[in-house]
Amino acid sequence: MNITKDRVVSITYTLTNDQNQVLDSTGDGPAAEPFLYLHGHQNIVPGLERALEGKTAGDSFKISVSAADAYGERNEKLITTVPLDRFSGADKVEEGMQFHAETAEGELQMITVTKVDGKNVTIDANHPMAGQNLNFAVSVVDVREANEEELQHGHVHSHSHEGCDEGDCADCHDCG
Ligand SMILES: [Zn+2]
Repeated sequence: MNITKDRVVSITYTLTNDQNQVLDSTGDGPAAEPFLYLHGHQNIVPGLERALEGKTAGDSFKISVSAADAYGERNEKLITTVPLDRFSGADKVEEGMQFHAETAEGELQMITVTKVDGKNVTIDANHPMAGQNLNFAVSVVDVREANEEELQHGHVHSHSHEGCDEGDCADCHDCG
């Protein structure tokens, strides 16, 4: 079965940047924990999704995805300074801290604290991988048809859960 829209794809991968640092990996061999996604629903970065189109289980390949085709270029306008008292819910605020915030469109966004200066906190709403080329070494483990519920929700329900529950869809606005 080949990879096309509305099929559930299981892959293992190692992701490196142009400095050859490993950013993410499922591992490989028997200890690997394959990553599952629903193809054609923007569950993964566009450049990787395009490269996977038409592949089948057992295929392995390498693909270099430009920043524009991954998490986008860095946007300096997304770096802002806010008063420390905006973080009243946090125990402490320090450089390198990351947290999720909701955008005006209701989407979750990762924010990184880049500087704490007295009563001012500089935050960066760029995706942590924005501006980076992403180099994937990918192996396709399995391809199957998605079920009705997965297609409705636009994402995979893992085999360990029946249907959609909090554990499966905590990140999902459609299912939450
Ligand atoms: Zn769901």
